[in-house]
Amino acid sequence: MNISLDYDNTYTRDPILWNVFIANARGLGHKVYCVTMRSPQEGIQVFHDLSGKVDNIYFTNRQAKKDYMFEQGISIDVWIDDMPFFVYQDAADRPAMKVTERSLHQF
Ligand SMILES: [Mg+2]
Repeated sequence: MNISLDYDNTYTRDPILWNVFIANARGLGHKVYCVTMRSPQEGIQVFHDLSGKVDNIYFTNRQAKKDYMFEQGISIDVWIDDMPFFVYQDAADRPAMKVTERSLHQF
């Protein structure tokens, strides 16, 4: 089973709990990936907390998590996330977001 574990307000809420979960899940043969909407430039604390613990860390840079992981060739079976709508939805401040009528009015 491929498991996605969110970082902000999921892992960070109780790192001790999630460290036990990650170790147990991996020990049973499952893959645990940290999938965060942070950019790699925002990743220092994520790397500090999770390098060597999870199977990999992915920074979607505000892109919807499901699409991003599909592009990486990984199918996630279970998503663990405090904001589950971001599995399917880009974050509003995604740098590459399309210019909309509303954003045009801001200039
Ligand atoms: Mg979160």
